[in-house]
Amino acid sequence: MTLLEIDLKKLEQNYSSLRRRLNHHSKMIGVVKANAYGSLSGLIAKQLVDLGVEALAVAYTQEAVELREYGIEIPLMVFYPQVEGFRDIILHNIEPVWYSKRSGKKFKEALSEEKKSAYPIHIKYNTGLNRIGFHPREAGWVMEQLDDSSFNVKSVYSHLAQTEAPKPNEKTENQISLFKQIMNKHSQASNQKPEFHLLNTSGVFNYPEYHLDWVRIGLGLYGFANHPEWNKTLQPIAQLKTKITQIHHITSGETVGYNCGWKASKNTRVAVLPIGHADGFSRQYGHGKGWVLINGQKAHIVGNVCMDMFMVDIGDIPCNEGSEVVILGAGIRADELAENAGTISYELLTASGNRIPRVLKT
Ligand SMILES: *Cc1c(COP(=O)(O)O)cnc(C)c1O
Repeated sequence: MTLLEIDLKKLEQNYSSLRRRLNHHSKMIGVVKANAYGSLSGLIAKQLVDLGVEALAVAYTQEAVELREYGIEIPLMVFYPQVEGFRDIILHNIEPVWYSKRSGKKFKEALSEEKKSAYPIHIKYNTGLNRIGFHPREAGWVMEQLDDSSFNVKSVYSHLAQTEAPKPNEKTENQISLFKQIMNKHSQASNQKPEFHLLNTSGVFNYPEYHLDWVRIGLGLYGFANHPEWNKTLQPIAQLKTKITQIHHITSGETVGYNCGWKASKNTRVAVLPIGHADGFSRQYGHGKGWVLINGQKAHIVGNVCMDMFMVDIGDIPCNEGSEVVILGAGIRADELAENAGTISYELLTASGNRIPRVLKT
């Protein structure tokens, strides 16, 4: 059967390695959105709290509610709160991000309905990613709202569009310079004294001069950093393994899988593996774009990935029905496999479906 094995020792090593890299006064927000990048968010969050992260963050409110119900008590940010969830946010003492006038006004209403004051929030500016956040020219409006006892602005931040690109990088420099102006305004104007942050994992490696008060680290904790040199300081925490369900002897000219996706050019053996696109192993990896390791040897995926299974050409690789197969982990890096299929490690990791049991490496 298919298992995702999580190694908490490696999580600890990644955490320590990243922590050593930070400026001394910088604190760490551990990003555990999307089930901790496809692993197991409750378990990882708990471990990160024990290791010493000062805060955690997720993308959506429901993810944060689940962590509170799991017993996570440290400050918990929601990067992309939607207005429908504001009551849940307040009930569970979760810290929302304000990113637009609409979201700001709605949150203020929710606070007054719940009779709350000095509620912790974070403010996000859009300095050029053009995804979410206040326009820098809205800073005046934002600061007016803060002269109000309803809020305690814990931090003001922005998000960079290409932190892994080689330096110097004009786009990033423009974003940083806009953010510096915003920092000045917030530091001077309001009676609130927020802290500031800008960087994700690759930013931490590439822009050590901008660690500021906080950094927001996701991918790095799970063992990847978007650059071969930076990757060397980290280790993937998850290993995805399965076992061969069945082996077929295929004669030259026979086809394998739906729509006759692959045709054998010689006699060979094909192994069927119990994982498919419903488990997050997408069709992008079909037709030889992806591979697995059996007995240390590469076996390429043949034809289309099905919903629940896919097939690999095992030729003469010594193996039997029931033999172990490594899909991700020792010898197969998620970033390399993803790149070969035209995507990125983030997508491959977070796709891991909930049919796959998570087990702890012992
Ligand atoms: C997901 C996310 C991060 C974490 O990015 P990594 O590259 O995984 O470290 C940081 N900040 C924001 C706003 C995010 O959405």
